[in-house]
Amino acid sequence: MILKRREFMKSMSFVISGLMLSGLNSLAYADRKNKKSNIVIIFADDLGYGDLSSFGHPTIKTPCLDKMASEGQKWTNFYAAASVCTPSRAGLLTGRLPIRNGMCSDKLRVLFPNSTGGLPEDEITIAEALKTQGYATGCVGKWHLGHLPQYLPTNNGFDSYFGIPYSNDMDWTKTNSWRDAKAAMKNPKTEYWNVPLMRNEEIVERPANQNTITKRYTEESIKFIKDNKNNPFFLYLAHNLPHVPLFASKKFQDKSVRGLYGDVIEEIDWGVGQILDTLKKEGIAKNTLVVFTSDNGPWLVFDEHGGSAGLLKDGKGTTWEGGMREPTIFWQPGKIKPGIVTDIGSTLDLFTTACKLGGTKIPDDRIIDGLDLCPTLFDEKSSPRKIMFYYRGTKIYAVRKGMFKAHFITETAYAENDNLMHHDPPLLFHLGHDPSEKYNIAEKYPEIIEDIKHEIEVHQSKLVIPESQLEKHL
Ligand code: MG
Repeated sequence: MILKRREFMKSMSFVISGLMLSGLNSLAYADRKNKKSNIVIIFADDLGYGDLSSFGHPTIKTPCLDKMASEGQKWTNFYAAASVCTPSRAGLLTGRLPIRNGMCSDKLRVLFPNSTGGLPEDEITIAEALKTQGYATGCVGKWHLGHLPQYLPTNNGFDSYFGIPYSNDMDWTKTNSWRDAKAAMKNPKTEYWNVPLMRNEEIVERPANQNTITKRYTEESIKFIKDNKNNPFFLYLAHNLPHVPLFASKKFQDKSVRGLYGDVIEEIDWGVGQILDTLKKEGIAKNTLVVFTSDNGPWLVFDEHGGSAGLLKDGKGTTWEGGMREPTIFWQPGKIKPGIVTDIGSTLDLFTTACKLGGTKIPDDRIIDGLDLCPTLFDEKSSPRKIMFYYRGTKIYAVRKGMFKAHFITETAYAENDNLMHHDPPLLFHLGHDPSEKYNIAEKYPEIIEDIKHEIEVHQSKLVIPESQLEKHL
């Protein structure tokens, strides 16, 4: 079926050249000037909504990301698929809420080095979808969708992989005490965490020297771009940082007014600048969509080693805005209409958007939660996304529809369940008037709450929950 569409596209590309026919939009986006867009996704880890200067940080300097934002689109209501690493990444790469592919759990929040599960084989990643259209596909950085061979990037549509397959604070060498680990993270030494650095399916360094990891991920990404500049490519660069423990290479250490956390962000910013410069120098910037965002909000329990969600409430691990709303930038000079987009978007939408740009069919044998953002990116139309479900594990904690967000359950990030609260009626906030979720207006809008409850019923009526991959070894 995919092949048929490809041939159809080839035969049609001349006919539709220069036209925007309704119903053939995906074709037009995919094949403007007869060349498929390259796609680069740069994904930070635990970056807060307020951690870039263009998103309001007063001391962290991010000139490259700020320039990217001014040349492209800055999205201020853009959400990760979950508030912690593993489910968030599953959502981005498959365009499906992690509840649909077993990549979440109520017992364990992410995969660990002793986990035996991973992204199920029948899931379709962005890389697998684009591969059918002749894309070269590279994965650099943190994977965290299963470290056993069958789950690695090279078995999920990527031609190559270079990175640490899970979080940089795993494989702790000292003790299993959380308190000791937390203390060590404040004065991190790379040898405290025996995490592997892999090339494809082989471990090439252990422990990974994390001091230079951001620099090396950047260099690897640039090499991938140069090697593949003559054919369409998809690069997924998922930095391990600024997840604690924090590391920066020599050139960036002790430079930022914000301290080590600022050093780390400023090195990531430098890397983004290097990648955009490479695309420009190679003459392929106009044909490359670059997206910058993060997997979840700041890890606030690490004090000054965690980031900031700015004016948004709370951070990583919660379904408050600070847990899932991310500073997000889209860039494609000459193609993207520059501006600030306040409509809703999600990392879930990157799958569908990438499929449209690559000219491949959206799978119709499963529910895809992602929506096509191309009309907003390229034609200044409003975003198709009006609703966002905030899951924690397998449960819906909150739902946003338009400007309203209802919280049915709230819970702080990592404490025991004694702070878990069910709300009936739910807490209701107007995120336009009250982005910090301070003023509950549930009493004033019973009809909004009924409407959101109806959305949940519709959503759940089509939900089939598979076995959790995160609990497989328990
Ligand atoms: Mg994370």
